Amino acid sequence: MTGSSDNVTTRRYAAPGRVNLIGEHTDYNDGFVLPTNTGLYTRVTAAARDDRRISAEATVFGETAAFELDDAATMQSSGWIAYVQGVAAMLMQDGARLCGATLRIEGELPLGGGLSSSASLELAVAAALLGIAGEERPAPRIAALCRDAERRYAGVNCGIMDQYSIACGKMGAAMLLDCRSMATTFVAIPDSVALLVIDSGVKHQLPDSGYNDRASECESALRTLNEAGIAADSLRDVSPSEADACRDQLGDVLHRRVRHVITENQRVLDAVDALQRNDPLRLGELVNSSHRSLRDDYEVSCREVDELVTIANSCEGVFGSRMVGAGFGGCVLVVTDPDRLDEVESGIASRYGEFRGERPWTHRVTATHAAGEITDR
Ligand code: ADP
Ligand code: MG
Repeated sequence: MTGSSDNVTTRRYAAPGRVNLIGEHTDYNDGFVLPTNTGLYTRVTAAARDDRRISAEATVFGETAAFELDDAATMQSSGWIAYVQGVAAMLMQDGARLCGATLRIEGELPLGGGLSSSASLELAVAAALLGIAGEERPAPRIAALCRDAERRYAGVNCGIMDQYSIACGKMGAAMLLDCRSMATTFVAIPDSVALLVIDSGVKHQLPDSGYNDRASECESALRTLNEAGIAADSLRDVSPSEADACRDQLGDVLHRRVRHVITENQRVLDAVDALQRNDPLRLGELVNSSHRSLRDDYEVSCREVDELVTIANSCEGVFGSRMVGAGFGGCVLVVTDPDRLDEVESGIASRYGEFRGERPWTHRVTATHAAGEITDR
């Protein structure tokens, strides 16, 4: 929608959050993921300026920050503005002729909650900066540029899943993404399944958390496997028996990291099969085993998230639950019977509320489309 006040034309853009059904910490290992988008948004109102300055207000922080477009590639910054600056820098590096802009950024997603508020922010800002400059890029290209922005400017060695899902997702479907070939297959989420997200209330700080440690552990495990004679370009190419044969060289910790990646990739493919066969019980089993693998082998869960998963799984009607996102806190995804959604949601919220001393934020995953300009449709 375009609006106008004081002779300044404003345009509005929005990008949803995403929930990954299964396939955690597999994207940066060239593996498989199965995200879907949900109707919580980062919204950006944008007005073009005559100069080359980007001035951005982040209402969730009550802060305004600014930079010159011509300094975007080189300026040192941190915090939320680094994402905005990074997106501007990457778009310009790709040849986009951006113009100065005043941006107002409003967010509905929990920050650091595993629903990818960061990629949602990046995609909303990218849509706004491109839109007001009259520039266009294919959605997969914008996703890759936003991923690079997060890696280079916010210091998070993330994979492509979040940006790709938010840029290219389809309403009401999960997207099986092969993070090596970038081939996508959309899988309808059957009516027999409802998805609920519950925030543990524990916040992660990605650049400071173990996220980058895990990415480098995977690189180091791959080097060790290569040195042991296993021809693999990424952990995705390693078979369970090869990983077991190299257990001594890898050591216990790296062996478990590799085991998570290998078994999680298989679980994604099995989950697609379960969705296609409309088998929510099987989907729930896979989600539960994903959580155990993330907790025990990848060691990215935490006490509160484990408690939340235990509470969820003890509720009648729940098929399975697991941590979502990078880990070390954040949200839990609950796969449940839609007919019992009300009681499941309130049951988990009240029992976890007793445990934490505060009722948690909950969200029912709703069908939504990919990032873009808001038009009155
Ligand atoms: P997640 O992506 O799981 O929510 P991250 O740690 O990757 O967690 O990203 C959270 C960071 O993204 C925030 O700390 C902030 O810097 C930035 N961010 C996300 N949404 C907004 C927003 N609406 N306004 C300003 N910054 C935001
Ligand atoms: Mg993020």
